[in-house]
Amino acid sequence: MHSTYPDTLLHIAGTWCPSKSGRTLDVLNPATGETIGAVSHADKSDMDLALAAADNAFRVWRAMSAYERSQIMRRAAANIRERREKIAGLMMLEQGKPIAEAMAEVGLAADVAEWFAEEGRRAYGRIIPSRSPAVTQMSLRQPIGPVAAFTPWNFPVNQVVRKVCAALSAGCSIVVKAAEETPASPAALIGAFVDAGLPAGVLNLLYGNPSEISEYLIASPIIRKVSFTGSTPIGKHLASLAGQHMKPATMELGGHAPAIVTADANIDQAVAVLGAAKFRNAGQVCVAPTRFLIEKAAYSRFVEEFAGFAGNLVVGDGSDTRTTMGPLANERRIFALTALIEDAVNQGAQVVTGGRRIGNRGFFFEPTILANVPTHARIMNEEPFGPVAIANSFDSVSDALAEANRLPFGLASYAFTGSEDVAHLLRRDIEAGMLTINHNGIGLPEVPFGGIKESGYGSEGGAEAIEPYLVTRLVSQAYRQ
Ligand code: NAD
Repeated sequence: MHSTYPDTLLHIAGTWCPSKSGRTLDVLNPATGETIGAVSHADKSDMDLALAAADNAFRVWRAMSAYERSQIMRRAAANIRERREKIAGLMMLEQGKPIAEAMAEVGLAADVAEWFAEEGRRAYGRIIPSRSPAVTQMSLRQPIGPVAAFTPWNFPVNQVVRKVCAALSAGCSIVVKAAEETPASPAALIGAFVDAGLPAGVLNLLYGNPSEISEYLIASPIIRKVSFTGSTPIGKHLASLAGQHMKPATMELGGHAPAIVTADANIDQAVAVLGAAKFRNAGQVCVAPTRFLIEKAAYSRFVEEFAGFAGNLVVGDGSDTRTTMGPLANERRIFALTALIEDAVNQGAQVVTGGRRIGNRGFFFEPTILANVPTHARIMNEEPFGPVAIANSFDSVSDALAEANRLPFGLASYAFTGSEDVAHLLRRDIEAGMLTINHNGIGLPEVPFGGIKESGYGSEGGAEAIEPYLVTRLVSQAYRQ
């Protein structure tokens, strides 16, 4: 075990515990490739205990007032803030991101907890005007029941906190299976809720074999709602499992975000904002801009400045405060990116900068920009999920819009333009769940976060995020005759 990195246990029914079998999985530091700890591996008996705990605790949690639930969540937010450095340090070690990014992620997690704590107090029903003065018609909003949530390794804390808070604020209990590759920071996050006075069993944490756990939990009659963040193929699989059991699902899946820059845009600002969005978390971000579509008149200037931006990034170990881009989180991404870049070059793309793995210790990769990538290259169609940007030019905004909408993905989209006409066109016609124009406004707790088309459904932010954790019931009552 690493001196500052703990082994991670499961959290079931209010207790931190090893798995019944004693099995564990190794955890690596992606900056060195070395094993730094282990995480408990849940089997069916552990899952049964977590399900029973979530079932029992649901009755307790839903019976508490929204006010009391909010107080506990606010205390959890305070705990997260107090433990920010500790949680961020764990995340940096297991996921690789620079410490400043990890600190920002944990800070945002506290904001998310606070925002949902408030919003849960506003899960209003309605009184509907009736056809008879003797009748009162009520639409009641009630928690749907225990939730099963599955989260990935790219934002180990942010992905968990959004699902946990949406569930808790609605009055649901939850079983989370977080990512085995990055287990300690989500466990520390859960600890902040537990120590805030959350009743035992309301929030349970499992690790193990992802498909074994998801198949078992989704099929369990105890679970009433499913939430998943990850790739589109796995999302489709889990959504179909949920469908077989008539359970609603929130699906936050892959993207391939277009970033449209017109020649009248503030190019310096576009490069700074989009460059930061591209290379944050080494590009392992579902909303990262990937297809940069630049109006011809500004293309060479944009590409030159963008290459300068990429060249100024300091790639290194996240613990070094000078580092602005850490390693990839696992070796799979190195192979995936190398293959995508090789294919693009074979199809005629030019490598403006980067394109290769850095060294052979840890999973570092060069910030990469590809220019003039043909539409049929794999990377124009598959999510790179890494520090690789495509810079292509366009003649007319309608061509750029057609390219933006070409793929089945529809998660984030970006634009920089000086034209209100272009902004209006994109607002109306771009097929993406999120559009941010002339700045980066994606990801705050109070705004919707989610995709359309094959990027999924449901929102993980804004008032919309609580809706899928509630059921609507009608009560129509006549006064006694
Ligand atoms: P992957 O598709 O194997 O796994 C993605 C995530 O889903 C992981 O956290 C994994 O543990 C989980 N998962 C996989 N199979 C599962 C199952 N049957 N049940 C429940 N969970 C399951 O791919 P990967 O190599 O880990 O990640 C690469 C791809 O995943 C990327 O190309 C990207 O599209 C996607 N991804 C998306 C996000 C996101 O924020 N939307 C985050 C991480 C990964």
